[in-house]
Amino acid sequence: AKENGRNTYAFYSPELSRSSYEHFRLENELRTAIERQQFLLHYQPQLEVGSDGIFTVEALVRWQLKSGELVPPDSFIPLAEETGLIVPMGEWILNSACSQARQWNKKGLKIRVAVNISGIQIMRSGFVDVVEKALETSGLPPYLLELEVTESYVMNHIEGVVETLTRVRELGVTLSIDDFGTGYSSLSYLKQLPVDVLKIDRSFISDIPKDSDDEKIASAIIAMAHNLSLKVVAEGVETQQQLQFLKQRGCDLAQGYFIARPMTADALEDFMRDKSRT
Ligand code: C2E
Ligand code: CA
Ligand code: CA
Ligand code: CA
Repeated sequence: AKENGRNTYAFYSPELSRSSYEHFRLENELRTAIERQQFLLHYQPQLEVGSDGIFTVEALVRWQLKSGELVPPDSFIPLAEETGLIVPMGEWILNSACSQARQWNKKGLKIRVAVNISGIQIMRSGFVDVVEKALETSGLPPYLLELEVTESYVMNHIEGVVETLTRVRELGVTLSIDDFGTGYSSLSYLKQLPVDVLKIDRSFISDIPKDSDDEKIASAIIAMAHNLSLKVVAEGVETQQQLQFLKQRGCDLAQGYFIARPMTADALEDFMRDKSRT
């Protein structure tokens, strides 16, 4: 698994060589779950470091089992990608996130929703139409939608994604590069993409202030992003010290347990109302 310890419930892990029967069973369960829409979105706010306000929240999917148990995405997204089931699932996620943001908007809560998009979805023809339709159906203004794509995917498939992502951005949607800094090689792909936001990967934040190399890397990413007129989000901010460090370096946004854990749509509404009162 990507990282152990976050959840012990290893629902699916490509490293564990399971029997093909087990694999088949999981795939079928996932297929049924998609048909029955047994998923749920949690939302995690991003703090605007300068103004202390919240505008963007990231939508994070969970699989809700009949028992009520919530399965974390790392346990089923890889299988969904491997089987192509990520395409219908991703469409459901996008539509739900847009309609939720539209509902908030109607209630006077101006919230932009950031949705994780798998590379598999981008590569399917018709992806731009899917996004356009999600906006149309929900009535969400495009500037209230952000799409997150991982650095490793866009870097390795730059020719395949440039046109699609350019068209998506022309709709007025914000584009953000997730897990930034983990792709390690050339940064030249940034010149080819119409990007708005870089999200510094959690691995560069979690050891601040212990690891001075991480501090230097995070500072360099913030400076570089600003030189390119991009906004920067730091992920995985867990302590006051980390937030303070990021503030000093001029990081635009901070996301992490220190600010808030991912939460249900209702809880997020309460969180926003509490925040605006203080
Ligand atoms: P990600 O996009 O990098 O999302 C951030 C993950 O870090 C989330 O885990 C979030 O709960 C967690 N996190 C946030 N703040 C902190 C913190 O301060 N400390 C720590 N240790 N963790 C923090 P989650 O929800 O389990 O999602 C894991 C991954 O699953 C996501 O990583 C993303 O790659 C994928 N994922 C989640 N939702 C979706 C989705 O709707 N579609 C797709 N394609 N992938 C998704
Ligand atoms: Ca993300
Ligand atoms: Ca990330
Ligand atoms: Ca480190």
